[in-house]
Amino acid sequence: MSPMPDLYGAIDLGGTKLRVIVADLEGNIAGEIIRPSEADEGPEPVINRMIELLEAAAVQAGVALSQLRAVGVASPGALDLLHGRVQGAPQLPGWDGVPLVEIMSERLGIPALLENDANAAALGENRFGAGRGTRFMIYHTISTGVGGGIIIDGKVYHGVSGSAGELGHLTVWFNGPRCLCGERGHLEAIASGTGIAWRAQEMIEAGKAPGLERVLREKGGLDAVEIAEAARAGDEVARRLYDEAGLYLGVALANHVNIFNPEMLVLGGGVVNGAGDLFLDHAERIMRQLARKEPLKYVRLERDALGDRSGPLGMIAALGDLVEGERPAESEV
Ligand SMILES: [Zn+2]
Repeated sequence: MSPMPDLYGAIDLGGTKLRVIVADLEGNIAGEIIRPSEADEGPEPVINRMIELLEAAAVQAGVALSQLRAVGVASPGALDLLHGRVQGAPQLPGWDGVPLVEIMSERLGIPALLENDANAAALGENRFGAGRGTRFMIYHTISTGVGGGIIIDGKVYHGVSGSAGELGHLTVWFNGPRCLCGERGHLEAIASGTGIAWRAQEMIEAGKAPGLERVLREKGGLDAVEIAEAARAGDEVARRLYDEAGLYLGVALANHVNIFNPEMLVLGGGVVNGAGDLFLDHAERIMRQLARKEPLKYVRLERDALGDRSGPLGMIAALGDLVEGERPAESEV
């Protein structure tokens, strides 16, 4: 037995920020560093930066990098979890088939694990946040896009290849507005910050949103926050955009209640935090109206509790499962 506490590293690899934590398996954070990811430099410098920051976070926690037991990375984009590869993400230019698990475990000499960022956040909220104590939970993060994670019996549901849980691309409006992915009528097209801004832009171009056009002229741009302000000030088009976000989020939530019979639905992300007053009550009303009565009795709708720490803390939970489930992870170190 080593006299050192068992500490693990977790990295939230984002397009704009890297958040690196060092923590024990109970989720107690002993070191934490946040830096710009400078993702436009491509994978190699970003990976070097991830390792530097992990080392600095380990030092904060009072251990050397080599004393960490394992490291987990939460990544956006399309991942091949079977082979530990990042296949590509719009916010990470140049990451086409990067074997991140192999690179990290070789360079650090410890086991490495890769997970989708929203799945990691779902697991973090489930183990250490709003969903603590629940076993069946559905998580949505609504920000520039809409991410999701499905927790079944305390574990992330991955599907056959790791692509499950893309809840932002649930079709809720047949032939509806165009989604960031190119398809139509997905939840992300209607409820994400980018979707709301695109829809406002379309209305302006069609001459149907004079109020928002004025805001656009004054500010030089229009995002979900400014549209929310316009809605609160009484702009009808802005209100309608948020009403529709609430309506179709409610449709999505009702479907999840009917399919999964969850104990809890957790909502987080920038649009929920910045504009939740404009659409969450509506979403809950619609959910209660549309979902079946029996599963409705058991479900609670909650805001997230961990914010930006949900992803890295979820990686800590995933590493804990790896160690407890397989034990060889310990003897490999
Ligand atoms: Zn989509």
